[in-house]
Amino acid sequence: MTRRRDQELGMDRRITRRDFLDGVGIVAAGSLLPNVALGAESAYPPALTGMRGSHDGSWEVAHALRDGRTFEGTATNERYDLVVVGGGISGLSAAHFFRDQAGPDARILVLDNHDDFGGHAKRNEFTHEGRTFIGYGGTQSIDTPSGFSEESSQLLVDIGIHTEKFYQAFDRDLYRSRKLERGVFFDRETFGEDKLVVQKRGAGTQAFAVQTPLSPEARKDLVRLSDEELDYLPGLSDTEKKEKLAKTSYLTYLREHAKVHEDVIKYLYTRPHGLFAMGIDGVPALDCWGLGYPGFQGLSLKKGDAPGLSATAKPKPSEPYIFHFPDGNASVARLLVRKLLPNALPGHTMEDSVTSRLDYDALDRKGASTRLRLGSTAVRVQEESGHVRVTYVKDGQAHDVSGQHVVMACWHAVIPALCPELPKAQKDALVYGPKVPLVYTNVLIRDWTSFDKLGVSSIYAPGGYNTGVSLDFPVSLGSYTHSRTPEEPIVLHLTRTPCAPGGSSREQHAAGRYDLVSTSFETFERQTRDQLGRALAGGGFDPGRDILGMTVNRWPHGYAYEYNSLWDPAFGPGEAPCEIARRPFGRIHIANSDAQAYAYTDAAIDQAYRAIREIVS
Ligand SMILES: Cc1cc2nc3c(=O)[nH]c(=O)nc-3n(C[C@H](O)[C@H](O)[C@H](O)COP(=O)(O)OP(=O)(O)OC[C@H]3O[C@@H](n4cnc5c(N)ncnc54)[C@H](O)[C@@H]3O)c2cc1C
Repeated sequence: MTRRRDQELGMDRRITRRDFLDGVGIVAAGSLLPNVALGAESAYPPALTGMRGSHDGSWEVAHALRDGRTFEGTATNERYDLVVVGGGISGLSAAHFFRDQAGPDARILVLDNHDDFGGHAKRNEFTHEGRTFIGYGGTQSIDTPSGFSEESSQLLVDIGIHTEKFYQAFDRDLYRSRKLERGVFFDRETFGEDKLVVQKRGAGTQAFAVQTPLSPEARKDLVRLSDEELDYLPGLSDTEKKEKLAKTSYLTYLREHAKVHEDVIKYLYTRPHGLFAMGIDGVPALDCWGLGYPGFQGLSLKKGDAPGLSATAKPKPSEPYIFHFPDGNASVARLLVRKLLPNALPGHTMEDSVTSRLDYDALDRKGASTRLRLGSTAVRVQEESGHVRVTYVKDGQAHDVSGQHVVMACWHAVIPALCPELPKAQKDALVYGPKVPLVYTNVLIRDWTSFDKLGVSSIYAPGGYNTGVSLDFPVSLGSYTHSRTPEEPIVLHLTRTPCAPGGSSREQHAAGRYDLVSTSFETFERQTRDQLGRALAGGGFDPGRDILGMTVNRWPHGYAYEYNSLWDPAFGPGEAPCEIARRPFGRIHIANSDAQAYAYTDAAIDQAYRAIREIVS
């Protein structure tokens, strides 16, 4: 893009953003951060903007370890009953369950390589003219809590979360009362023309299709695929159809069975990005049937679970998607920390926790029975006589601590490098499913009048740099009030999936990971400004004027890998890699959502519970 275009986009404007290089915060060129005091925010990670998620400074030690570097720790004489590696929801839950069993005097240390705790459950804050806006940089919502196990449900209650309160807190009428719908942005690079089309609820596919820049044949095919009851797998039984769909990508199903126009394929290509971090070439048609995508209504398939359905596509209890704190499940992590370290987060209720400022200095106090040490990457975990020695690197120095037991609540793929003594089969299982890369970007905008004028609250952008853009969830809790009128600032939430179409799921994720670590904040910012400017142009949005702040949460190691019937065999009981991976090894126990191959908060909690039960039994 040209310098002139950069100026139109506002690349030279002052916004709340900072870029980080080599673990050292630097102010990005041209960014003067008008409303944020740099000195103050450095001690308060949620207020850092720019590149977050797996921020620079969090990954270098682990990558050096991967590349063969060894570390010799200095003894600290710190002895714990439990050392937890990984301060995400799983690690914090493990600390909670252990303390519950062993009592408040149990000595626990939690180590995490990031400058904030919570792992994927990450809080982002922006401040504009004295008002704080809270966003979520990862783990978005408590998904279907009625389906949680007894232990996960009880943990939520124990830390003060009463999910029924979200029925009041989440304003399900705000956008509906303003007649805001879902829009689709067709971009000129993919569809020949920039056009935002509103999908009016109940208006039908035909009314939508005629407004799109799709060719007449493609429009007809889209209507046929969405509305007509045609059986594209005639002559097969219910079971045979499901077996076939499990081994056929949705792309192949659309091309070879439904035989739709290529423009329909372009329109649907990125639809599964948010859930699977892959396009329709990597997702089984069976999962797309399970999730209600178009093209299956004429197959007369029996509803319900089916062999081969991925964990994400399996039927869940019907419940609204409203269990959302303004910072997503970072509140789950913060409330776990409040339970473990009451002085760190003032207050007593889930409502007051939303705006309560966490005291990061209180996390790792000398003499405290529970300590949470950030910026600390574990590099070696080795059982010795009667205890486990854990070596970690903080501020460039390696230290040794000792634990009676260790819970590895970190990403499974790093564990073999930390514990080379593990049996080969277990190491293979630990690296079987690498984490899935994706990006959540939060953009603070001056107002949402452009969305209001255009009649949309969210936009699907099938060919866009970000494939999803939405106004923040309308949740007000305690003294935190959601943006209620279009004239107020609001946080926009954008998602990007950097996969590489064409390969197997693991190849696609590997390419996406590489893309993420080699993309600068400046590129994210330019692309995001360009996209918002074009999609919202009809509503008068000016990216140079209206964007006040931006935080890119990149997650090269994002969702836990879930088994996919296109690429993974059907594992028998006890044979799934996650089941082999999570076997205890002496005093070393293994948690994380990876241990269930299920990228959800209840898996993170359930696996922590199992790991602690192994210890206490
Ligand atoms: C963008 C995004 C959106 C999501 N949305 C949802 C959602 O809406 N609902 C839902 O239920 N789930 C969601 N998830 C899934 C999410 O992964 C889980 O819900 C849960 O937060 C995972 O917790 P965890 O503790 O298992 O793993 P993590 O959150 O990954 O925590 C593991 C921690 O261990 C640390 N670690 C790794 N190696 C080391 C080491 N050597 N030393 C020290 N620390 C280490 C990691 O850096 C990390 O901080 C989302 C995930 C992502 C990435």
